Amino acid sequence: MLHYLAAIRQAPYFLYLRMSNGAQDNATTKRGKNASPAFLILFLSFCLSFSFLNMLWYVRLFSFPKEVIWLHLIVVAAAYGTLTLFGFFLSRFSLRRWAISLFAVCSYAVFLGFALLYLLNYFALSNWGQYITFRIVYIFASDVPALLEAVPYDFTPLFFLFVLFFLLSIWILYKVSSPVFASIATLGDRLIEVPQKLVIMIGVPIILLVGISGVHMWKQMGYIKAYFKFHGEPVYNFLKPITATFGKTKIDFEREARVKAVRQNFPRDIAFKQKNVILFIIDAMRDDRMGVYAYERETTPYLSSLRAEGKLQLVEEMSSGCATSFCGILSVLSASYIPNLACTNYKIQDVFKDLGYRSNFLLSGSHNEWYNLRRYHENYHKMDFYKDGSYSANYSLSDDRFLFDCLEEIPAFDGTPSFFYFHLLSAHSSGTKLPEFAKYQPSGKTSYMSPDSILYGNFYDNGVYQADQYLERLMQQLEEKKYLDDALVVFTADHGESLGRKGRFGHGADLYQGAIRIPLAFYDTQQPAEPDLQFGSQVDIAPTILAKLGLPIPETWDGVPLEPTDSIRYTYHRHGKYFAVIRKDGPEVMKLHYISDHNTFELYNLQHDPEESRNLVRSPKHLSDFEDLKEKFETVFEDR
Ligand SMILES: [Zn+2]
Repeated sequence: MLHYLAAIRQAPYFLYLRMSNGAQDNATTKRGKNASPAFLILFLSFCLSFSFLNMLWYVRLFSFPKEVIWLHLIVVAAAYGTLTLFGFFLSRFSLRRWAISLFAVCSYAVFLGFALLYLLNYFALSNWGQYITFRIVYIFASDVPALLEAVPYDFTPLFFLFVLFFLLSIWILYKVSSPVFASIATLGDRLIEVPQKLVIMIGVPIILLVGISGVHMWKQMGYIKAYFKFHGEPVYNFLKPITATFGKTKIDFEREARVKAVRQNFPRDIAFKQKNVILFIIDAMRDDRMGVYAYERETTPYLSSLRAEGKLQLVEEMSSGCATSFCGILSVLSASYIPNLACTNYKIQDVFKDLGYRSNFLLSGSHNEWYNLRRYHENYHKMDFYKDGSYSANYSLSDDRFLFDCLEEIPAFDGTPSFFYFHLLSAHSSGTKLPEFAKYQPSGKTSYMSPDSILYGNFYDNGVYQADQYLERLMQQLEEKKYLDDALVVFTADHGESLGRKGRFGHGADLYQGAIRIPLAFYDTQQPAEPDLQFGSQVDIAPTILAKLGLPIPETWDGVPLEPTDSIRYTYHRHGKYFAVIRKDGPEVMKLHYISDHNTFELYNLQHDPEESRNLVRSPKHLSDFEDLKEKFETVFEDR
């Protein structure tokens, strides 16, 4: 909000300029020939500083490389340069009221365009770790309620602040554009008064220089584009979306070649338990808020009933590799840690497709516009069925009831084995929630100004309850279509949700336990549940599925099949500037945090301190733990 306040504070100053200019106008001519060029310079400096300050904040908050500041300022300067040029031609044409108004409207469009881009980017990056792009704006513009629902906060006060900013900036720009326009006109007049010879002497070399560098830039376009993309320039990324900000990205050609070879050599005519595989990813579902995981509230009666019948195998301590959907989903499907996530990974749907399975992706929410995920899902194979929320005809794009419609479209089981991936949004703050599932009251989104974890906690629990009820209905539909006759069903999540701890809500801001704890449960419809497992992370889900069917694990996968074991295990996590390594050694679970922009470490004993409130990094007793975890961290995240 600071930059809006700054804009508001500038108002009297501009008003003063306007008034002093008005006086001058009356005293001189109507053409405003004597309007000082200072107005234009002041206006441009204000606009450029506005963008500069925003970018400084952006780089600081989201750990972007500093180059993005000047990259963006080039774009901003080009935009205001074009605006000034437009003003110049307009002032040659007419100095009437309509010309000034047209100039004012154009200035406003440029200024507000940048302001909106910054605002939406802050929002998207801090709530979901994702840039704002044209496609996201386009899809949400047709579904504003879904956009408002996507935010974990009560939007009303922010909305009023936004309207206030909108009106104030209209007023300020309306007042300012007149003297600025006059100032451009004066500059234009002065330019025309300059002797022709001088214009040619200066102008021709400038045009030549611009022309030559233009041709040069045109030739280097590929490099320039890549540079803008790599550094996360917001205007470029608005038009040409790049994927989420889970860290530095570099293409590892050696690894790609290895993945290709592994895929080619994967045995396709192997004997194995050919079951249908049904994967449910419930967005933002936390294990400790589920009745089936011994939460004090029975939020998951359906899963608990499976458990009571001895059909559900649970993994006690599971965590996601990061805190956003993008890498959470991809970590599950490609069994790879964040530094190794790539489009070309050999993913579990590819394995099944190569084994002759049908693949069906039924996804609630905007997966493709939001994250470009379809490109990742279909890198090797087109899905036999793919629909995400953007296909929804009867419901909002974040309404899970869309999945019931999708499943209706899928023919009954005909003997061809099938892989299903369902994505549910009911537990996520953006998921459409029906009043009939609002068991816990008072429930609602929290206020941004005075966070209320009880209100938001109830709201969240209602979402978990709704997700469980929807799971039951989807399972009924699958059963009617005979897909459950011999199936392995997996329930998990892409990441957790912060519910007020350390004043945080939502996800995608850090790697504390709230944001990364997830459930994992297996249900084999043909046999009673195997004994529970103790510890793992998302990358272990796909290997465990393959192992349960008696299939080998692709060598390039980072995860391993989970099994009862006493040996020490480590899991690795990253979100932007946050890194974490968790170690399970017997009952003891230690977690090391690293925050790269402060270069600080935090060490927690999750067994005794699940809330992560006592940082043990300076405790001499834990020096060996610290050193061990730090070494692991340095090995896995060598590119940090
Ligand atoms: Zn998610």
